[in-house]
Amino acid sequence: MVKNMKKLRSFILFILVLQFACTDFAFAQKKFKPNSFMKNGWTDKANSMVKFQIEKRGVTNTDVLQVMRTTPRHLFVPPALSAMAYNDYPLPIGDEQTISQPYIVALMTELLSLKGDEKILEIGTGSGYQAAVLSQLVDTVYTIEIVESLANSAKKRLNKLNYNNVIVKHGDGYQGWPAFAPFDAIIVTAAPETIPQALIDQLKIGGKITVPVGNELQELQLITKINENNIKKKSVIPVRFVPMVHPSEK
Ligand code: SAH
Repeated sequence: MVKNMKKLRSFILFILVLQFACTDFAFAQKKFKPNSFMKNGWTDKANSMVKFQIEKRGVTNTDVLQVMRTTPRHLFVPPALSAMAYNDYPLPIGDEQTISQPYIVALMTELLSLKGDEKILEIGTGSGYQAAVLSQLVDTVYTIEIVESLANSAKKRLNKLNYNNVIVKHGDGYQGWPAFAPFDAIIVTAAPETIPQALIDQLKIGGKITVPVGNELQELQLITKINENNIKKKSVIPVRFVPMVHPSEK
């Protein structure tokens, strides 16, 4: 009997502790407001993103790493996803498009070996995040987006955040941007089946293109323009990007 009473008492105590723990957890959850958290805590998240996702995988360019730490990625994703902005994956940005995984943004930026005075062309503005990252490392970024609503919202966002050396255009990236060519470097953030000739033509000799090439199976390639008629190709890693579409396929 006494033994049973003891058992009962421990059981009640166990239930009380459990209930307390649950209320405390619920209370903590209620207190957790993603937006106020992101306002104060995003730099910590960006720092660990750089340390564990980007440096760990071998990106070493200190300017690229610093820009990845200080660019507010949570302001480039839909507000409902802002708490996930610094995680190790791409995120949807509407119109079936995505913002690339942080590591891929850093890697593609590093591959261009930037010095600071370049005129860059980006194909696939999307959220504007890759353009914002690049804009802090070069002279001017020209970026083209085929989905009009995305081009407009990226333009607004980049203006609001004072990335003033990014010029956004709604249009077809397969044509490049002849009015501002030749470019020192080109970054393509949607996957064409083969490298568009117009982009090679609009690249300076010695310039680089970083581009995911392929359909289902894609590889990130680094192209260097050797002279007017020759390019050198290097495969970097397998990747998965949204397709680079033609205006008729939209
Ligand atoms: N760089 C973006 C992510 C790009 S996702 C970022 O930092 O958020 C790829 C983008 O390429 C999509 O927004 C898609 O609409 C765009 N795109 C696809 N085909 C295109 C084309 N032919 N010309 C320009 N943009 C294109």
